Amino acid sequence: MEFNYIDRTKKITDDEIINDVLYVKNILLKKDKITSREYFQFSKFGKKAITNHFGSWNNLLERANIEKTRKYKHLSKEEIFILIEEIWLKLKKQPTIREFEEFTPHTKKIILNKFGKWSICLKEFVKWEENRSSNFDSFDFTIKHKTPREPSKSLRYDVLKRDNFKCVICGKSPVTNPNIELHIDHIIPYSCGGETIICNLQTLCSECNLGKSNKKD
Ligand SMILES: [Zn+2]
Repeated sequence: MEFNYIDRTKKITDDEIINDVLYVKNILLKKDKITSREYFQFSKFGKKAITNHFGSWNNLLERANIEKTRKYKHLSKEEIFILIEEIWLKLKKQPTIREFEEFTPHTKKIILNKFGKWSICLKEFVKWEENRSSNFDSFDFTIKHKTPREPSKSLRYDVLKRDNFKCVICGKSPVTNPNIELHIDHIIPYSCGGETIICNLQTLCSECNLGKSNKKD
C-alpha cells in the first residue's frame, strides 16, 4: 500500500463548474438565464466552490457567457418595480438588494445606476405601487352612465309592449297567470356599463330574472 497524496481541493476546475451551471440551465431548467437560487437546487457544487473559483455568482455568469449584464441595460424603472413586486410578494417582506440579486438574473449595478441607492429605489417603488392602485381604483369603479338606473314609467311600458307583456325567456304572462310578476331587466347589467335604453332592456318574469342574476355571480 502506497500512501499517495491526492489534492482534492484542486480537483474541481472552473470549466467543470461552468459546465455544471450550463447543464442545469440548458438541460434541466431549459432557460435562457439562471439565478444562483435555481442553480443550487440542482447543482453538483456548493456556494463555497463558486466563491473560491469565481469570487461571486455574477462573475461566474460572466465567465460562462450567460446573459446577465446585457439585459439589465434595457430594464426600465417600471420593469425593475415589477421584479421587486414579485420578490416582495414571494418573501412577504421588503426585499434586500442581495435578495434582488438572488431572485433575479440581474445585478445590483442596475439599481445603483438607476437610483443611486436601494433605499431610494424602494421608496420610488412604493410610490409607484400607490399610484398604480389609485389609477386602478378610479379606472375600475367609475362607470359614467348617460341614463339613470330605473327606467321611466313610459319606457317600462314601451318595453313591456314590445315584448307583448310576456317574459322573453319562458313566455309566462300575467295576462294568463295573475301570479306572474314582470320585471324590466338590463341585458348588459347597469353595473357593467349597460344603459337604461330600450334596446338594452327586456321583460323577464321574477323567476327568470332571479335565475339570470344568480348566473352573473
Ligand atoms: Zn320567465
